[in-house]
Amino acid sequence: MKLLEDAILEKGTILEGNVLKVDNFLNHQIDPALMKALGDEFAREFADKGITKILTVETSGIAPAVFAGLELGVPVVFGRKNKSLTLQDNMFTTSVYSYTKQTSSDISISKDFLSPTDHVLLIDDFLANGQAISGLLSICKSAGASVAGIGIVIEKSFQKGRRIVEETGIPILSLARIKSLDENGLVFIDEEGQ
Ligand code: 5GP
Repeated sequence: MKLLEDAILEKGTILEGNVLKVDNFLNHQIDPALMKALGDEFAREFADKGITKILTVETSGIAPAVFAGLELGVPVVFGRKNKSLTLQDNMFTTSVYSYTKQTSSDISISKDFLSPTDHVLLIDDFLANGQAISGLLSICKSAGASVAGIGIVIEKSFQKGRRIVEETGIPILSLARIKSLDENGLVFIDEEGQ
């Protein structure tokens, strides 16, 4: 998606360890117009898939997920990273290892908001090693919910997450796909997938 690629090139910063910093428009300060464009694109792609609910993870998946939910007319549920002890029994919980923070944390979703009748679209800000998406997939499995598709804002295609998702056979749309990211700069995968 050109609008997103332009924002990454203009405002993103490359950090050590193949990490892309995009806190100017996605991870800290949020660009609402861009988030709406991203959400609309996800909604267009998955419009005819019978989606009943969007699932994301706090914090940075929420903005694009809400705009997609608005367009599809479905609720958005975000996995909470700090589970409330009083609600523990009523939660689906899974442990997720964070590539950027190099620590594991629990992601929880209330059993009130996910059920076997749900056909879910998963949305997240980044796909790197696939841990966050795998965690959401395992929560959907626990809930008996089916997964219609996966929407990613920025995919780092050189890491293993894309392969993990492809092995599940679940349709995926990544709005920006990064082929390489290092001290020499950033290269996107083009529309032919090269
Ligand atoms: P994964 O679970 O696929 O390894 O990584 C996904 C999560 O890690 C995302 O939700 C995001 O928070 C974080 N992440 C992974 N790579 C990057 C990166 O290059 N930049 C930023 N800002 N976050 C990243």
